[in-house]
Parts: sequence; C-alpha cells; structure tokens
Amino acid sequence: MNPLTSGPFYQNTMEIVEDAGRLINLNPNALERLRYPRRAIIVNIPVKMDDGRLKIFTGYRVQHNQMLGPFKGGIRYHQNVDLSEVAALAALMTFKNSLLGLPLGGGKGGVQVDPTLLSRNELEELTRRFTSELSPFIGPDKDIPAPDVGTDSQTMAWMLDTYSTDTGFSQTGVVTGKPIEVGGSLGREAATGLGVVYVIEKAVQILNIKMSEARIAIQGFGKVGMHAAIEAYALGARVVAVSDVSGGVFSEKGLNIPDLVRFVKENKVVKGFPGSEEISNEAILELNVDVLAPCALEGVITEKNANQIKAKIIVEGANGPTTRPADEILHKNGVIVCPDILANGGGVVVSYFEWVQDIVWLFWTEEEVRAKLKVIMHKAFDTVYRFSEKSHVNMRTAAMGTSLERLQRAMMLRGSAW
Ligand code: NAD
Repeated sequence: MNPLTSGPFYQNTMEIVEDAGRLINLNPNALERLRYPRRAIIVNIPVKMDDGRLKIFTGYRVQHNQMLGPFKGGIRYHQNVDLSEVAALAALMTFKNSLLGLPLGGGKGGVQVDPTLLSRNELEELTRRFTSELSPFIGPDKDIPAPDVGTDSQTMAWMLDTYSTDTGFSQTGVVTGKPIEVGGSLGREAATGLGVVYVIEKAVQILNIKMSEARIAIQGFGKVGMHAAIEAYALGARVVAVSDVSGGVFSEKGLNIPDLVRFVKENKVVKGFPGSEEISNEAILELNVDVLAPCALEGVITEKNANQIKAKIIVEGANGPTTRPADEILHKNGVIVCPDILANGGGVVVSYFEWVQDIVWLFWTEEEVRAKLKVIMHKAFDTVYRFSEKSHVNMRTAAMGTSLERLQRAMMLRGSAW
C-alpha cells in the first residue's frame, strides 16, 4: 500500500481526475504520472517546550507535480494532518495552478500539531526547525510554501528568515503570504476570500440573482471565510450566517460584517455576537440560502447531509469540503457546485503575484492586485462554465477537465508523456 496515495481524500481526488480524464481522452501515460506525487519529505521536529521538555512533532512536504513550474502550496498546522491528506492537498494544487493558467506546479506541507496549544516561542522554534529540515528542497525556483489552516504571515516571516539564514542571503521569494514589510503583496490577506466572492458574483448571474439580493451562509471565519464575508458584504450581499469552530451566528436580515469582525478581534470567536441567533455548524450547511460557502475544513458535506442542503449554489472556499457521494446527490438535486480548485484559487493567484513582485523588486498597488485577480478568476469561471455546458458535466468535472488539458499539453511537449 502506498501511504501517499491510499487515503480517502487522495482517492477521491484521483476519481475526479479519472472521470475528467475519460472526457478529454487523457493520455494514459500522463494519467499514470499524475496519479503519484513526485516526492515526499517526512521530518521529525524536536521542539524545546516552555516547561523544559523536548517534544517531537512530525511534519510533511509533498511535491506532487512540476510540469508547469516550481511546486507551490500552503503549510498547514493542524492536529489531524497526515501524509496522505497532505498528498491530496498537494495534488489539488497541481490541478488548481494548471486551471488558473499559472506557471506553477503543486505541493503542500503540514505539521501534525494543534497550534492553539503552543506558545509563540514554541511555534517559532517549530517553524524554524521545520524550515531548516526542508531547506534543501524548497526555494524560489524549487518549491514555494504559503499559509494554510493554522499558519499565517508571521509563520511565513519565520520561514523566510530561517531559509535566508541557511542559504546565506535574503530570499524573499521562498515563501508567499508574507507580511508587507518583508516582501509581501498588498491584497494577499484578502485574496482567497475575494476570489471566492468573484466566483459567487459569476455563479449567481447564471441563476439571474443580483449580488445585492443574494443570501449567503459561510462556514469558517478564518483567513478565507472572514474575507469572503467582508467582500460579499461590501458588494451589498446579505450574509445571513457565519460560523467558526465555536459554532455559528445567524440573522435573517443579514449580519453586520464589519461589526462582527471587530467583535471577533476582541472575543476570538463569533459566538455571542449581539443581535444574532445561535446556529450549529451542522445547521448552517442546511440553511435556506442562495449561496453556501464552506470555508473551514474538508469532508463537511457528505451523503448524510447532502439531501438536506437547500442552497442553490455551493462555492468551495475550503479544499475538499464535499465528498464524492455527496457531490452526486447535489448534482442530481440541481445544486451548482463551484469546486475548490476554481473557487479558492484567489489565494494562489495573489501568491503568484507576490512571487513575481519579489523577483523583480517592483510592488503593485492593492487596486492593481485586485483588478488582476478579478480578470483571472472571472476568466477561469467562464472557461469552466463553458466546458460544463458543452460537455454536459458538473462544474467539478469541467474544472478538472480544463486543468488536465493544459497539463497534458505541457507533458506531451516536454516529453514527460507520450
Ligand atoms: P484558518 O485556520 O484561517 O480558518 C479556519 C476556520 O475554520 C476558522 O474560523 C476555524 O474556527 C474554523 N473551523 C475549524 N474547525 C471547524 C469546524 N469543525 N467547523 C466549523 N468551522 C471550523 O484557515 P483558512 O486559511 O481560512 O483555510 C480554510 C480552508 O480554506 C482550508 O480548507 C484551506 O486549505 C483552504 N484554503 C485556504 C487558503 C488560504 O489562502 N488561506 C487558500 C486556498 C484554500
């Protein structure tokens, strides 16, 4: 059994590849190559804890495919991280970057740790040691990490500093999602959430719903969910419910998102937001809304709750929030599912912008970043939608088909498949 490819999330991803591959007559050698990640690095990271004990944490970096450019993908700190989950997320990055037309391959990393239980010093030591262990395998031309669940711009600043120390000179392009002061891009923090909203804008048009009339529920109020809520609210949409790990809040007339953001800054969680009703994380998925955006963790929409989902459109801010059986039920029920590799691509698009800006040492305004992001997200949506209409398949298969067409062309040209 191959520990990289045997997990359910990886298998699920490969089934989507096989479906879409059949549709576009994917070259069998190209398919075989895409089935396996190129390389995986497993490291055991010793950390001196504040109480003087030594504790070992296990970390992973999986490099899936680099046909289109250097490996690119986030680093996740979460207690459930394992090799096969990281491998699945790395594969998704290959397909996402191809779909979005970026000159990047796919990678992902993670450490099995609950970051909320570590002090700032412990987190810094963990990050620096993890980076040192990865140093031979990452770099601006090789593999470029970014934040994901449980990591942030501070994590990236530590990674940048450690990598630069290890290699002897400052190399800001080694990671993206950095603070602005050390080579970050304006607009990166909001990028994934903003990209989710650019996709929502396009998806509601299909159903003739105006953005200003759309009712939206968002699961997760972290880097993706919070910014999706902020941007949707700014466009006049009614964000009726949001949730985080503590539970959810609901308001029929729409939540005041700027007030909620201030509330969360002070209280850490959405629970208890004045003027809202409490709602569970399960119930938020089943609300009667136009758009549901799952922006937390994977596997939250399953065959158990898919039939209860009343949203007309699902926009996957999170990676892999819908299981395959659930996908089929949603398709039968006429729900439009905008898949993760399309919907949450805004983050990697602006990561790509950040990497480019670091290479040329010329930085763009936030307006430039947002405008360029909008062009790429809307174009990707239109391409996927046209593919789905032409081939009578759902948006997930269409997105994968579009992505595979580009990957296949690159592989054939390079002689990596024949
Ligand atoms: P984050 O850690 O900033 O936020 C995660 C949010 O989910 C938090 O609000 C947390 O409270 C909530 N949450 C955790 N467990 C939950 C549960 N059981 N039920 C409901 N809510 C729960 O992470 P993030 O960066 O916002 O990432 C969220 C998802 O988006 C992940 O799947 C990630 O891979 C994906 N993603 C992130 C980015 C990015 O740029 N950050 C880009 C693409 C995809």
